[in-house]
Formats: sequence, structure tokens, C-alpha cells
Amino acid sequence: MFDSGHTNREPGALGVQGEFEKKYNDTLVDELIALLNRDESFRTYRSAEPDEEISLEERSFRANRISADLFLSIHHNSVNEEKIEYFSLEGRTAARTREDRQGYSLYISAKNPRITDSLWFATALGKRLEEIGRESYSIHSKSSPPAGQQLMNKRYGIFQYDNLAVLKAASMPALLFEVGFIVDEKDDIWLRQHRTEIAGQIVRALHDFREWKLSEKTH
Ligand SMILES: [Zn+2]
Repeated sequence: MFDSGHTNREPGALGVQGEFEKKYNDTLVDELIALLNRDESFRTYRSAEPDEEISLEERSFRANRISADLFLSIHHNSVNEEKIEYFSLEGRTAARTREDRQGYSLYISAKNPRITDSLWFATALGKRLEEIGRESYSIHSKSSPPAGQQLMNKRYGIFQYDNLAVLKAASMPALLFEVGFIVDEKDDIWLRQHRTEIAGQIVRALHDFREWKLSEKTH
């Protein structure tokens, strides 16, 4: 199941193009579903319709009710409010960071009953992103993670973040993917230029995960 982060009422971070995070999340999930619809061996679901108002837990409960094999939550990142500078772009407000920020992060929760599988999938996705030259944020970051988060894998930017609501409420392997920083001009351009490639690498990681699960069953 794909979970596109945020709702119309709470559309998430504002980016350098004057667009909210929700739009980036929805666009990538649309692309993922379009790619997987060509592959009859996958059944895809959305945790919510794009215009639906829904709680974080309900997103995961829906995945639990249909016994989804995997829960992947898609988000795009911002920085702390004090590092944000607002400006006007073609009549609308846009936001940019004063410090360069590039790269993705992956989050898993130990309160999710399937943390081992979640970590396996996170690592598989990190490897697939590396193939297209995409690096994690943590690989170059010297700052330590915020309270409640632990860095598990620096190269693939995997953090343990136990209290993330969508991850802990899900009964299947669950991952939250912060694809990149929409408040950073450079990262925003990279994200726009590579969206289809990112979707393709997520699909490859889904295949990796499924093959690994199947090989586990036969051994
Ligand atoms: Zn978000």
C-alpha cells in the first residue's frame, strides 16, 4: 500500500516552487501506481484518496484491514522554521532554506512488529537509489539526529524512529521515505528531473523485497 503523506487541510511543507509537499507526494504515488499497474503480479492500493481528510492511524488501519504486504509512506522534506526564508514567486509565497540540504532519509519503527523486514526493504531501497546516484542526507551530515531518532545506517540514511504514527500502527513491514528537500533549490530541481527514475527504483526495490521473501519461504 502506498501512503501519500498529508491532506488538503494539512498539506505539509512549502517548497521553493511555492507548492506544498502534498503535491509532490501525490505526483510520485501516481507515478508509482501507473508503473505497477503495468505489472499484473502487483496489486496496489492507496491509503487515502488525494482529497480525503484522514488521520495518520487510519491510513495504517486500512493497510491492516486488507492485509497489505508492505506499507510505504511517501513524504518530502523541509528544514527547521528558523532556517526558512519566505519569498514571493509569481504572486505566491514560496519557501527556501538558508543552508544547503540534499538527499533522502528512510524511517522505520521498532514499535512495528515487522522491523526486520522493514529494515531489509529500507536497505534494498537505499541500494536501488544509489544506482541512480542518489545519496542519503545523512551521508554528508555532521549533525546528530533529533531526539527520538537513531541513525541505523548512514550510507542508506536509515533512521529508527519508533513513534512515527503510520509505522507503528501498521502490522506489516512499513517504511517512511523522505524523498528529498523541496526547500532546497538544487534538490528540488534534482527531484523534478528524476521523479520517474525514483519511481522505477522503488519498483525495483519492491521486486527485491518480494524475491527475498519468496526465497525465505523456500529455504
Ligand atoms: Zn511530510
